[in-house]
Amino acid sequence: MVSRPNLDNANMKMPSYFNFPALDVSVAFPQATPASTFPPCASDYFHFNDLLKPEEQAVRNRVRECMEKEIAPIMTEYWEKAEFPFHVIPKFAALRIAGGTIKGYGCPDLSIAGSAVAAAEVARVDASCSTFFLVHSSLAMLTIALCGSEAQKQKYLPSLAQMKTIACWALTEPDYGSDASALKTTATKVEGGWILDGQKRWIGNSTFADLLVIFARNMTTNQINGYIVKKDAPGLTVTKMENKIGLRIVQNGDIVMGKVFVPDDDRLEGVNSFQDTNKVLAVSRVMVAWQPIGLSMGIYDMCHRYLKERKQFGAPLAAFQISQQKLVQMLGNIQAMILVGWRLCKLYESGKMTPGHASLGKSWITLRARETAALGRELLGGNGILADFLVAKAFCDIEPIYTFEGTYDINTLVTGREITGFASFKPVAQKSRL
Ligand SMILES: Cc1cc2nc3c(=O)[nH]c(=O)nc-3n(C[C@H](O)[C@H](O)[C@H](O)COP(=O)(O)OP(=O)(O)OC[C@H]3O[C@@H](n4cnc5c(N)ncnc54)[C@H](O)[C@@H]3O)c2cc1C
Repeated sequence: MVSRPNLDNANMKMPSYFNFPALDVSVAFPQATPASTFPPCASDYFHFNDLLKPEEQAVRNRVRECMEKEIAPIMTEYWEKAEFPFHVIPKFAALRIAGGTIKGYGCPDLSIAGSAVAAAEVARVDASCSTFFLVHSSLAMLTIALCGSEAQKQKYLPSLAQMKTIACWALTEPDYGSDASALKTTATKVEGGWILDGQKRWIGNSTFADLLVIFARNMTTNQINGYIVKKDAPGLTVTKMENKIGLRIVQNGDIVMGKVFVPDDDRLEGVNSFQDTNKVLAVSRVMVAWQPIGLSMGIYDMCHRYLKERKQFGAPLAAFQISQQKLVQMLGNIQAMILVGWRLCKLYESGKMTPGHASLGKSWITLRARETAALGRELLGGNGILADFLVAKAFCDIEPIYTFEGTYDINTLVTGREITGFASFKPVAQKSRL
């Protein structure tokens, strides 16, 4: 009988076999290739690529190549550590996609579909990286482009487009998430500028961002205004939020502002009410809707390869009818998600897209992605719980995407208001019969 070591004695040395590092997954489980060697794309079943213009296909190809080669091999390690791989920022910058549809100021002037497929290709390999990108590009940069002065655009956009500086976008507060229009951070006018006081929570990229786009309530007009705050502004502190179960590579922060001075030159002149914030959100929701599309494609691609490699009962898992049914359900979801995302892009280009359209696209696509991720997780059995095989990671990552940029419920209510004319965000007042 093998005797167990006495673990109560703190001074006792553990036998060396306790100290071995974990086996690399490719050695521990040679029956299937881990996602560090990314699977080929099998999810574009209806040849969506044919709908793209040559320049959009070119963006798609270069983003795909970078993500598969540079990010896929390291993403599990960074996701597990909940750290950001700063060394890949120059590689992202070289893709020339930051700034998306913005024209001029060193921005790439992509079509909305080109920008959307770029976001999807990033998310196909890693949804944290696509979130990092979208916060920087589709929220912060777009707000400066749509609501900033000419001088602000010239000053800030070129280095943001080259990713020499990184930005974040701070709307949410500890007490105001879905109800963001009621936010309480204050902006008080003083000579030469503004004083910001308050707190923000959940702000992606904020722990290292050079520029923070911050929304605060103007104490004179009582309306929401926007400000560009520099990371070294006195009175500003940012701390990393820990223990997230999804998008672990994204550095979300708690921001505390105690009498932070912002010069007049850094107030965004085009943000004069919450409606102006909503204009940015409607566009960025189209981009966000493409994240779950890419994420679902990655899940399908991974499952498609895995089921052909892994054998049970003497046959590849792909040969079992129940596995095929799940794969086909996932594939059908993805084709429909792509077509809805594509239509949103076309509505936007023709000037017909409404906030209700964008909200329906975002909420419906994330719902289907959640179902797709759950099916994929099942298909991989135990390996559906390991980040090394991508699907478990994506299964966790879809949860925050379902919740941010308006939860599923809030986006549903935005569309509901548009189609019925009744806003139902607030509970109906209860009248007492007594
Ligand atoms: C990973 C991550 C990254 C984020 N990044 C950013 C960022 O960069 N910048 C930023 O500003 N914010 C960011 N957010 C915040 C995000 O936008 C909010 O989490 C989101 O708006 C929901 O707010 P909440 O978490 O406070 O939930 P709550 O508003 O408290 O909602 C809780 C639940 O109640 C439901 N609910 C609320 N109101 C209603 C209603 N009227 N009717 C029906 N149901 C309702 C919601 O749908 C939800 O299910 C991020 C969040 C996450 C998780």
